[in-house]
Amino acid sequence: MLIANALLLVVGGVAQVYAATTTTSGLVAQFSPIFPSTLPKATGVVTSYNPGPYDITTKLSADALKGYPPTWESPPTSSAEVKKVYDMIDWSKVPKAPVRKQDSNGNWVSDSDGDSDPYCWWSSTNCVKPKAKYLPADIHTCPASGDWGLNYDDGPFNRYDASEDDAELENKYAEPALYNFLAETNNQKASLFYIGSNVVNYPAAAKRGLNDGHHLCVHTWSHPAMTTQTNAQIVAELYWTLKAIKEATGDTSKCWRPPQGDVDDRVRAIAYQMGLRTILWDEDTNDWDMPAPGGGELSPKVVDGYFKKWVSNYESGKDEKGHIVLEHELNSATVNMSMFWLPKLQETFNVIPALACNGISQPYWETSFKYPLSNSPGSPTTTATSSKTTTTTAATPTTTTCTSGSYGLGNGDGYNGACCKDQSDCWDDCIGGKCNGPNSTKSATATKTTTNTLLTSTTCASGSYGLGNGNGYNDACCKDQSDCWDDCIGGKCNGPVNTKTPSKKSITETTTKKPSTTANCIPGTRGKKKGNGKTGYCCSSSDDCLETCRSGKCGL
Ligand SMILES: [Zn+2]
Repeated sequence: MLIANALLLVVGGVAQVYAATTTTSGLVAQFSPIFPSTLPKATGVVTSYNPGPYDITTKLSADALKGYPPTWESPPTSSAEVKKVYDMIDWSKVPKAPVRKQDSNGNWVSDSDGDSDPYCWWSSTNCVKPKAKYLPADIHTCPASGDWGLNYDDGPFNRYDASEDDAELENKYAEPALYNFLAETNNQKASLFYIGSNVVNYPAAAKRGLNDGHHLCVHTWSHPAMTTQTNAQIVAELYWTLKAIKEATGDTSKCWRPPQGDVDDRVRAIAYQMGLRTILWDEDTNDWDMPAPGGGELSPKVVDGYFKKWVSNYESGKDEKGHIVLEHELNSATVNMSMFWLPKLQETFNVIPALACNGISQPYWETSFKYPLSNSPGSPTTTATSSKTTTTTAATPTTTTCTSGSYGLGNGDGYNGACCKDQSDCWDDCIGGKCNGPNSTKSATATKTTTNTLLTSTTCASGSYGLGNGNGYNDACCKDQSDCWDDCIGGKCNGPVNTKTPSKKSITETTTKKPSTTANCIPGTRGKKKGNGKTGYCCSSSDDCLETCRSGKCGL
């Protein structure tokens, strides 16, 4: 059907007229989805860009939004709201790319289009210039040299219930931890790509994201690979997320990012007509894959190495481009890594939101919001906590000054710093009172032997982790974590699944809560019907899931 040139929206009793984009540029017209007139008006939010100062003391409400589909599931396509949006789309301007098939591992089959790449399928070819002439190019980098386009996917990072495994660790990093840190660190702003399910479950965090001057964009409702979705499913994934952000913050996003970057011209055309410009990236931290609750097996040292390389390449003149670098507000690992690196990045790069480095100042249909195109250091907070040092000049504290468990949260301890008691204070190991972060101090002094059997702690050679002695990674440790790649807990090296916990008691709880069917599931068979996969169980790591493996369950 034809798209009207102007749409009348009635939101919370207030009529708002949004002009649809005309096609004078040759691009297909866009529209803002029409939300029900009964949608509650957002409260506790700013109605224009807020440069600060910000309140970082108020605790956020845990109240959820009501009236939405079940979270973390593919939302129904049959509702009148979704159908209304579906009918507004000009389907003659949606390329008929096939709904992508998944292989036995639940991944899309990436080369099924062949070399001609007729639908500009980024997952297969990294194509960012659509073949459909009526679609704009994806935004995927910062054009100016030295610009670091800051952005975080998968938020807002929800708090755990106190009874959940890993709550103690994760809640230190759940929002508003990152938003507070950004406010305290030179008033830094970012572009945030929100999962609708996370917004519905924690709308107060989305309000904080908006109030703290960040751009809010869409990252789908349940985080599927979007090219594997039907047209109606794509509309539903985007609509419910747009609605959740609208209800929480009062704003209607005009930017989105496909999970895993999985987008082709069919998906782009639907999203674009719904008002959403596709935003990708050109450098990837792979931070989501680090060993943390819900993470994978990638060593933090690898991620740390990426950051080091980007800094040194720029400083040495090897890299003269700007970049959008993908990061996540997913779990303690990703947030901690970002906290560690942001001050250093600010010393090296012009760190600005990914949208700002592309000249986008108005990311919503609500034009009362106009964001600056540069970061503006200012007075970040209204609170006494501003006495914390916000630059990188803080000296590494001694173990007598650090607070156990307070790693990476502005106390100077943690990653690459001091640990108080044990490795639970650190990203990696606590050895001799120092967190062993980027540089492994694990020595390779062991004598090589030929046995490969699992050794008990009475037979293994301390320090001989992972060197063919049968002990080490996922095996027995002798004394402490210095025998292991990861932690030494109860005489066992804790490899792929990070269960950093303060006591053996909680380790036991973690173990017993794991679903029994993990014994039957096959690592890597994500999304299959053996009880594992998307809404089920994972066997050993997030490789078993569409997103992450947390305490034996797939999901976030
Ligand atoms: Zn994501």
